[in-house]
Parts: sequence; structure tokens; C-alpha cells
Amino acid sequence: MDSSDDEGEEYLFKVVIIGDSAVGKSNLLSRYARNEFNLHSKATIGVEFQTQNMEIDGKEVKAQIWDTAGQERFRAVTSAYYRGAVGALIVYDITRTITFDSVPRWLEELKTHSDTTVATMLVGNKCDLGNIRAVSVEDGKNLAEKEGLFFMETSALDSTNVKTAFELVIREIYNNVS
Ligand code: GDP
Ligand code: MG
Repeated sequence: MDSSDDEGEEYLFKVVIIGDSAVGKSNLLSRYARNEFNLHSKATIGVEFQTQNMEIDGKEVKAQIWDTAGQERFRAVTSAYYRGAVGALIVYDITRTITFDSVPRWLEELKTHSDTTVATMLVGNKCDLGNIRAVSVEDGKNLAEKEGLFFMETSALDSTNVKTAFELVIREIYNNVS
């Protein structure tokens, strides 16, 4: 069988992951793209993005998912990082309120750097650590509702909702453009 699909349309979407340092951005991406988790991950060096394919309505959709190289520690994620992004995950750590309090700032930065509709999900990561939770599910939901974002709690450690969160954003982008 001929596997070339020269009649099929192709889509390439850029998705960025933002949020404070150590909330689990790199692990969410490695869990989604390679099914890997690293307990002692250092700030990402070198890797700019990972590409994941999925099929929607019989069409091939490629998501180019960008991870910061740790520059969020210096509050200086560059505009190149955001350029062309049509999807975003804003991540906080449910065990550290300070990372939740940063969300409006990240949202502001995202808006400043984007000129189109960006399908955005608020992600409360590390939900496996419910015993030391500092941000309630309700607070996450309320903020997302107020800002018009999707919302999900995830765990890169035990995989809860990781695939679901990325794929929901990618589907929403597809809906926005098609
Ligand atoms: P980043 O700075 O936002 O990219 O965060 P990392 O992905 O480097 O993760 C920071 C730390 O949090 C690492 O020690 C990870 O092992 C840990 N971590 C990331 N995601 C989770 C999670 O879902 N649950 C738990 N318990 N730890 C996590
Ligand atoms: Mg990282």
C-alpha cells in the first residue's frame, strides 16, 4: 500500500509551556513526548522543542511543543520563544502557592507576545502530592474560569491527565484554525 498521503492536509502548531521554575514543565513534556520522567531533572539545556503527531478528523497534526531552557528563573523568556505560538500551557505546582500567584504574570506575558488567539490551558501539576497540596482544585478552576482558560490538574510523575491536557490544547487549536 502506498503510504504517502499527498492529498492529506498537514498542520503544524507551535505550543509553548510556561510557568515558574521547577513546577514540572520539562517533565510534562518528556512524559508526553517520550513517556519519561526524571526525579532530578536539571534546567533543560539544548532541547528547544519536541514534535508530537496526532490525527484529528483524518488529518495529520504536528504539535511543536516548546520548553524553556530554564530562563524563566531570570524572568526573561524571550519573545522568540512566544513567536508564532497558537497554544500554551501555563503550569503551576499545586504544592507551592507562590507558583500559582505567578500565573497572572505569565498570562500577561503570553498576551503581550501573541497577536492571535492562543488556546491556553492552566495546569496544576504534581497532583500526586495531594497530601501536601497548597492550592485547592477550586482555586485553580476559579482562576481558569475568570481568565477564560481550560483547566486541568496533572502529574508528570504518575502520568495523570498529561496526554489529555496536551491533546485538548492541540484539538482546540485545530478548532480555532479549521
Ligand atoms: P521545570 O523547571 O518547570 O521544567 O520543572 P522540572 O520538570 O525540571 O521539575 C522540577 C522538579 O519537580 C523535578 O525534581 C521533578 O522531578 C519534579 N516534578 C515534576 N513533575 C512532577 C510531578 O508531577 N510530581 C512530582 N511529585 N514531582 C514532579
Ligand atoms: Mg525545565
